[in-house]
Amino acid sequence: MTDLTREADPPPPAPPAAVDLILAKRDGRELTDAEIAWLIASYTAGAVPDEQVSALLMAIYFRGMTPAELRAWTSAMISSGERLDLGAVAAPTVDKHSTGGVGDKVSLILAPLVAACGAAVPQLSGRGLGHTGGTLDKLESIPGWRASLRADEMVAVLNSAGCVICAAGSGLAPADRKLYALRDITGTVDSIPLIASSIMSKKIAEGTAALVLDVKVGSGAFMRELPAAQELARTMVALGVEAGVRTTALLTGMDVPLGRAVGNAVEVEEAVATLRGEGPPDLVDVTLALAREMLTLAGIDADPAAALADGTALDRYRLMIAAQGGDPDAPLPQARHREVLTADQEGWLRRLDARAVGVAAWRLGAGRARKEDQVNHAAGIVCLAKPGDRVAAGQPILELRTDDETRFGPAFAALAGATAVAPEPGAAGPLVIERITTG
Ligand code: URA
Repeated sequence: MTDLTREADPPPPAPPAAVDLILAKRDGRELTDAEIAWLIASYTAGAVPDEQVSALLMAIYFRGMTPAELRAWTSAMISSGERLDLGAVAAPTVDKHSTGGVGDKVSLILAPLVAACGAAVPQLSGRGLGHTGGTLDKLESIPGWRASLRADEMVAVLNSAGCVICAAGSGLAPADRKLYALRDITGTVDSIPLIASSIMSKKIAEGTAALVLDVKVGSGAFMRELPAAQELARTMVALGVEAGVRTTALLTGMDVPLGRAVGNAVEVEEAVATLRGEGPPDLVDVTLALAREMLTLAGIDADPAAALADGTALDRYRLMIAAQGGDPDAPLPQARHREVLTADQEGWLRRLDARAVGVAAWRLGAGRARKEDQVNHAAGIVCLAKPGDRVAAGQPILELRTDDETRFGPAFAALAGATAVAPEPGAAGPLVIERITTG
């Protein structure tokens, strides 16, 4: 029998309407945690359409986000999927994330190097899109190597080799996957809060205890200007620390390609040479700076330069590659065609523009224009001279490699004006520009 004396429960609050959130953001009102949680969960479930989220993203692009909105947005993206549990990993976990650059093969050296010093490095990486390469594309040059691992396989590799580099599973921050694809086609990628929440949601969900961010600055980077790179770094460090992940950032230069190799197989070759102690100085310096930062966060007192010199980092690399099905001794793909770009006069090489070299390597086949495209693992560029080197007139500066000769024309076109030779040497700026912490 119905109890007529009992007051009826209040009705559940009506869900917000997406259009009200768009209007609020458009007009500068702060969104609440509940509104953001509802929006991200509903969009991930397919209950809010792309066109409404596109409009919201554009409003965020112009209005930015308050720290509270950014916290709620990032936490909703994490909650949209699973969070990895690295509790079964004995060593302290620490990861590195780079915002992406040209010739940036640091992860391939750094993960085994830091593992050789006693930490565990769980690195979930991505594929390249546009002029910057992706770590997974590079490693897939190695015959047999597998990027996709189940969570238990990932932990097993981490425990046996001390490091793992693999693809993020589809269950990790699925909201970011949808949002990133939408941002890509709506002109809303380069928004600091959207970049920061996208990167940090994945890194926090990955379960690492500590994280070092390598925020690249310069022509070949997402952030071409120092103030924007500083703001991105501070925003990401704050999000990490608030989520309980010990996080710091290094701002590093990206006006010139890092090292000499740009592409996939060529970068793997250079990474292995660096692990053998034969790396180019700029690549070695950035890698060691990041390694020291990671070891400090992990509370490990060890010298990474020694692990690079004595071959223990190379041993870890070989273990990691083999544990993921790869043959570290297998020959890597070699391009069928090579051409060179030469110096037009004698003097000092003063400029080698990272973005132009990245675009040229991409046009040679090393990168993809759309997510679905295949990369050519043999394609790429080798920098035969770097800024600061003396060159003779007609001396090769770049060697372009590809399997498809028709690609040379567009690649050389991308390199117009990319190099400059002058009678005097120029001053090189610092490679590690600044360290950012919350303290
Ligand atoms: N990398 C990401 O993962 N997300 C961004 O938004 C930009 C770069």
